[in-house]
Amino acid sequence: MVVGAGDFTVAEGAPITVEGDAGMVFLPAGNTVMRMVPRPAARRHENTEPSDNGMLNTADGKPVLLSVNLNDPSEVDAVSINAIAGVGLMRTEFAISSIADAANEEKQLSIYRRVLEWADGKSVTIRMLDVGGDKPLSGLEDVHAELRGIRLLLERPEIARVQARALLRAAVFGKLAVLLPMVTFPAEVEATRRIFEEEAGQLDRRGLPYRMPPIGMMVEVPAAAVMLDTFATADFFSFGTNDLAQYLAASTRRDVTADSQKTSPAVLRILTNAARLASTKPMSICGDMAGNPQYLPALLAAGIRHFSMAPARLPAIRSALIGLNADGTTAAGE
Ligand code: PEP
Ligand code: MG
Repeated sequence: MVVGAGDFTVAEGAPITVEGDAGMVFLPAGNTVMRMVPRPAARRHENTEPSDNGMLNTADGKPVLLSVNLNDPSEVDAVSINAIAGVGLMRTEFAISSIADAANEEKQLSIYRRVLEWADGKSVTIRMLDVGGDKPLSGLEDVHAELRGIRLLLERPEIARVQARALLRAAVFGKLAVLLPMVTFPAEVEATRRIFEEEAGQLDRRGLPYRMPPIGMMVEVPAAAVMLDTFATADFFSFGTNDLAQYLAASTRRDVTADSQKTSPAVLRILTNAARLASTKPMSICGDMAGNPQYLPALLAAGIRHFSMAPARLPAIRSALIGLNADGTTAAGE
């Protein structure tokens, strides 16, 4: 099922294809329209799921990791943990959908704990609330329209502090990494890290167990992508090509997705340069490009070795990977 797909235009009578599990709508022109919120799949995937723990090799033997993106914690019921390396992106804005949820530390803790325990020691990257702009949070209408993601969280630190505490406490139940949305400047990462340190001190005083997780950032704002070597305080990087494309093209998410063929060269170029600037820091990609085999050669050539995508996109990426070398060229005999 696909919900919240927004408006799009097709000629009268023209057929469209809806891929519910992937949260995708395909237009007649061959364009993919929307990545939106797939409802949790009703059934566990068939027993034919691979059990390679999402650890694959390119045709020339270089290791590649495949992880999943989750929107709702209940989506784990439909994913085989043996088929993935972990959760590369858990969007929290769908599970925490109101200002009351955002203030509820215990509720958040139980959501994060559930996913971490399910992952059974595999890495789970949970993104802090990415709300504001075109991602509203019910009850939070009194903020400037241009505030979104980490900028909004730092403007409303009471929201960030509750989430930081819930994440710190959840971290004892598995291998958690925290991802910051819509980062533009290094100071935003530093300020968030300070919040985590201060809240860890609070938990100490309350005698509650916690662990400090690695804190990384989405690379989805062009200004951050071109300056990635200045983000010394980020522990890791995750490329968000959905927003990167939107902001590079001065477009909207909907329009840029419909026009993805035209914008992708610019997105790939900025991503390739940013990957170089990331140097030795761990990096992955969790934007929709990660789940589209068409872009796999260029992403491999850019040095990306960890791909996180909607669960339904895994089979297509698995089979494309088999025929490619790590530099993105097609393997001999393919
Ligand atoms: C992105 O922007 O590519 C991304 C993964 O984040 P979201 O789609 O949630 O904005
Ligand atoms: Mg984004």
